[in-house]
Amino acid sequence: MLLKRAEKYGFCAGVRIADREVKKFAAAGGRGAILGQLVHNERVVSEMEELGVRTVESLDEVEGGTIVFSAHGVPPSFLHTARRRGLRVLDTTCPFVYDVHDDAERARQLGLHLVFIGDPEHREIQGYTRDLEPGTYHVLSALSEAEKVDWSQYPQGVRILYQTTLNAEEYEDVARAIESRAEATRTDTICYATKENQDAALRLAEDPEIDAILVIGGRHSANTRHLWETCSRLKPSYLVHGVEDIEGEWLEGVSGLGITAGASTPDYLVEEVEERVRTLASRAEGLTDGDRAGREDSRRVDTGENQSALSR
Ligand code: SF4
Repeated sequence: MLLKRAEKYGFCAGVRIADREVKKFAAAGGRGAILGQLVHNERVVSEMEELGVRTVESLDEVEGGTIVFSAHGVPPSFLHTARRRGLRVLDTTCPFVYDVHDDAERARQLGLHLVFIGDPEHREIQGYTRDLEPGTYHVLSALSEAEKVDWSQYPQGVRILYQTTLNAEEYEDVARAIESRAEATRTDTICYATKENQDAALRLAEDPEIDAILVIGGRHSANTRHLWETCSRLKPSYLVHGVEDIEGEWLEGVSGLGITAGASTPDYLVEEVEERVRTLASRAEGLTDGDRAGREDSRRVDTGENQSALSR
């Protein structure tokens, strides 16, 4: 069986750096807690706990030591609260998320009304909005919500910003609806790491050598589900959280299998899934391990282009 990974998959640069920083911290004997999941992946949460860095939902749960802020960022007041309570802070907030904080703060100082397009429950959006005065901002995730707002009450103007992980094209109607009713400017705060994974997944699904696709990711990862939806439109696609989810019957009659992974999926999960698929495929073909090793060398395809720099 041909196994082909998407040209881009898995951790974005921001999460890769956060993951590395926490592991470095733990390896140096550091102990503490991460505020919210480092990434939306249960295996990563367990891995961090084993390293001595548990996940907590609130600063109140931390008595001392170090608190880690994840790549999604936190409301600025959390930094002050943590320091006031004597906690050390390991801040792994992605620079792109800080760009949004900075732009929002400049717009706020100009007296503009802030509109964040995104998921109000997402920690990144909560980081932007939690410290703001009520009435100075909106969080919108659908056109119908934009249409309900009386934009004439903001004559000083509106600044539109996006949650970094959104697909801008999908929310173009929301931004346009605001612009048609208000004096609005937009800042392109989309991070293209997620889009690159989506585009690569689409190319994989379009590949004539590929008959089916495994999409690997956490149970609560929205971007993983989005990858699966993209692939499913073109090829039979299966969402798996780990090797235990793979069903042998999915591979029946499949001669080319594509593999991709959400932005919260660590590389070792991809390796594990690929290894499991090889074993199942070899069993189905009645191959010995020795036969399998020889064939893998000649058939595995990985472009090796899956490292992205943290730059726009
Ligand atoms: S902004 Fe982009 S690079 Fe940064 S954490 Fe989010 S998806 Fe990753």
